[in-house]
Amino acid sequence: MATDRMLKFVDTEKRMPDKRTVDQRRVDFDEIYQEFDAARATEQASRCSQCGVPFCQVHCPLHNNIPDWLMLTAEGRLEEAYEVASATNNFPEICGRICPQDRLCEGNCVIEKGFESVTIGSVEKYITETAFENGWVKPTVPVRERSESIGVIGGGPGGLAAADQLRKKGYQVHVYDRYDRMGGLMIYGIPNFKLEKDVVERRNALLAEGGVIYHANVEIGRDLTLAALREKHDAVLIATGVYKARDIQCPGVGLNGIYPALDYLTASNRKGLGDTVPAFDDGTLNATGKRVVVIGGGDTAMDCVRTAVRQGAVSVTCVYRRDRANMPGSQREVANAEEEGVEFQWLSAPEAFVGGDRVTGVRCQRIHLGVPDATGRQTPQVIEGSHFTIDCDMAIKALGFDPEDLPALFGEPGLMVSRWGTVRIDFRSMMTQLDGVFAAGDIVRGASLVVWAVRDGRDAAARIHDYLQAKHASVAVSAKSAA
Ligand code: FAD
Ligand code: SF4
Ligand code: SF4
Repeated sequence: MATDRMLKFVDTEKRMPDKRTVDQRRVDFDEIYQEFDAARATEQASRCSQCGVPFCQVHCPLHNNIPDWLMLTAEGRLEEAYEVASATNNFPEICGRICPQDRLCEGNCVIEKGFESVTIGSVEKYITETAFENGWVKPTVPVRERSESIGVIGGGPGGLAAADQLRKKGYQVHVYDRYDRMGGLMIYGIPNFKLEKDVVERRNALLAEGGVIYHANVEIGRDLTLAALREKHDAVLIATGVYKARDIQCPGVGLNGIYPALDYLTASNRKGLGDTVPAFDDGTLNATGKRVVVIGGGDTAMDCVRTAVRQGAVSVTCVYRRDRANMPGSQREVANAEEEGVEFQWLSAPEAFVGGDRVTGVRCQRIHLGVPDATGRQTPQVIEGSHFTIDCDMAIKALGFDPEDLPALFGEPGLMVSRWGTVRIDFRSMMTQLDGVFAAGDIVRGASLVVWAVRDGRDAAARIHDYLQAKHASVAVSAKSAA
């Protein structure tokens, strides 16, 4: 029986793919996890208990059919496993690498309590990498071409997932991005040691081979108006992400040597891609030989501290106002940072940046977590007289992102936004107040995750198809009644 191969969690331990040694990791930007080999992937997939109600699937934003692909992997039927995995996910090799699985599928795996979860993300990555190696991953060939065209603003995971889905339906899809490469934060935000850039570029190339047309270095609002795009295309999708860095209000914040996280990470990623980056080469956005303090406790902060380690910083300290249990970043990434030598100052908040012209230290205060607020999170309260200073040569602010003022940027006051600046959509049609203009990804939900952007992109593509079908049908009815 096929299921004889499953339910092995009772006597088979959870094993993640091997991690490279800390000494290796600290000196390069390669991914830190090695690949599963076939034997280990089969063994780990066979730990799944094939739950009747698979909570892993419920808590995957894409509702991936995880139990089925695990069983197919355990049975060595990898081509079928890939078909199942790719049916619900446009980028399974990317999600398998960078989803915070401890908060999503794996964190809800039924065997987690007592036996530790199935290594779902690593198996997803293994299946997809095997599919690429064997040539099973093919560019899209639509069953029929359609004449209608769609303009997608933003080539991040949201825009690209939508583009892929729309292309499968045969639409003419044009993706516009203000950057020179497609991929959004997968290229210029997330560092190589979590997601190697050739993995993203391989997907970008596949989409282009399938007929998606890229327009790089085109900023909507500067090079082309939204109105012009609406004229040109039958529908438009806004998937521009969120990029306005939150700032710290405290004395000394304007000193030299203090930078926003994304400027720092983008410079590092560009350098890794082989670009000339003057602000990196002249030592500005470069941590080599410096004492670095990073402020924040999310995934962006973790990416900054670990990038600084790899650039050869003398010391790297992360300052976060809550404790480890209450930080928004993935616990797995914190553990990786600790292994790599990052020091954490939990329950601490910056009070001032000190220095003359350049920053020489961050003066902090200790924090006590008080009573929970309306959201249920304990409120950070300053402990009076608890000041301490961390000496540094470079400080990085990683406090999260808000949307830019899109209606102003696009010159479209009719584009309605929430009080947080995210684009308002009708949640059934995914359309904004502007007819034929849809929105998806971080620009709708606020800073989130790649897997949620993929989900939104797929949903938006389906709604755009519905919209165009309905429009097509009503034109046909009018033509018939006129005749
Ligand atoms: P984006 O990826 O931001 O893409 C938007 C694209 O739109 C960009 O390419 C931008 O250039 C383009 N654009 C913007 N405005 C215009 C315009 N006017 N004209 C033309 N183009 C425009 N998520 C995870 O799941 N796992 C992680 O490990 C993880 N790590 C992260 C690390 C960092 C440092 C950051 C910042 C984020 C991380 N995230 C992670 C979050 C994840 O990257 C985002 O949630 C996801 O990329 C959002 O996708 P998106 O398509 O909505 O937007
Ligand atoms: Fe888990 Fe993410 Fe894969 Fe879903 S897409 S199964 S959440 S790793
Ligand atoms: Fe398998 Fe865990 Fe999902 Fe159950 S919850 S089907 S054990 S992966």
